[in-house]
Amino acid sequence: MTGIDDLPVRDELRGKSPYGAPQLDVPVRLNTNENPYPLPEELVERITERVREAARDLNRYPDRDAVELRTQLAKYLTDTTGHEVALANVWAANGSNEVIQQLLQTFAGPGRSAIGFEPSYSMHGLIARGTGTEWISGPREDDFTIDVDAATRAIAEHRPDVVFVTTPNNPTGNAVPRETVLALYEAAQAAKPSMVVVDEAYIEFSHGDSLLPLLAGRPNLVISRTMSKAFGAAGLRLGYLAAHPAVVDAVQLVRLPYHLSAVTQATALAALEHTGTLLKYVEQLKAERDRLVAELRAIGYEVTESDANFVQFGRFGDPHAAWRFILDRGVLIRDNGVPGFLRVSAGTPEENDAFLDAVRELKKEQR
Ligand code: PMP
Repeated sequence: MTGIDDLPVRDELRGKSPYGAPQLDVPVRLNTNENPYPLPEELVERITERVREAARDLNRYPDRDAVELRTQLAKYLTDTTGHEVALANVWAANGSNEVIQQLLQTFAGPGRSAIGFEPSYSMHGLIARGTGTEWISGPREDDFTIDVDAATRAIAEHRPDVVFVTTPNNPTGNAVPRETVLALYEAAQAAKPSMVVVDEAYIEFSHGDSLLPLLAGRPNLVISRTMSKAFGAAGLRLGYLAAHPAVVDAVQLVRLPYHLSAVTQATALAALEHTGTLLKYVEQLKAERDRLVAELRAIGYEVTESDANFVQFGRFGDPHAAWRFILDRGVLIRDNGVPGFLRVSAGTPEENDAFLDAVRELKKEQR
């Protein structure tokens, strides 16, 4: 049988595994930080209308620059942060994973490096590898915060071309303070200068504010966002960034022509017309997230502070065995490989109750 390693694949891909959260068919799925609420029927209708219109023109390539969509994304950012964002500041792609890939293709790649403070979103490192970028695992403290001195020292030592800061961080859930991001930006400019990518995939769930206003006067700063979480549209595959217009011009050097299909653009525009309805679920999920934190602590678990739509909890001597115990009770959560900890996404109240019943039972077994 021919396997991957029998093919002439690039050396750095040998023996590696692809990104893979298990997609198991169980009653309660709280493992991929999705929004548990299906899209409201009126939005499904509007998507159908918009896609029907787009379908008539599918013989033509889509708007290569996604102007209408980027204009509406800019409006959403301006409305929700109070910081004026224009079309020229916004770029969109198929999920923020593609945004990150385009940023690494533009600013990193062979002979260059990128750093993230781990544990953090594993795709930053995997996309780095895929783009031929050297990956540097930066430090995080035992309580999962970023120590400014340790982090700025790592930047000064390695002089990376791209610095990732994920806030709120995945899989730990905690936000990175504004002052820390500012200090990392200064360190990155002094060392190279390099690009700083703030991944705000979960920002709508945060107790705090977006760092978008920091873009003023900082051309090497990028804020990355997604419609996968707060908008409840993971299946749409729409991510975007806000930055200085020069950054938007630069990523266009690597983007594939017509990368955003007409169907994707039409669907995303329909979703943006319903921002108000979609964001109502965010408040509900934030309340459920806070309930999960409180109840897990009451049961006796150690819980990392969460500003996201998921919660990291522990400690387990054998997290994988605990994960299995919970799965055997019909609830799929995530073992991210963080020693001692597991992660659960906030679901509907009923789903969260099923999860809490399972972890209460687990705690009894462990006593
Ligand atoms: N950034 C972070 C921190 C994430 O957790 C995720 C999704 N798990 C993404 C980016 C990618 O999201 P998408 O490609 O769906 O926009």
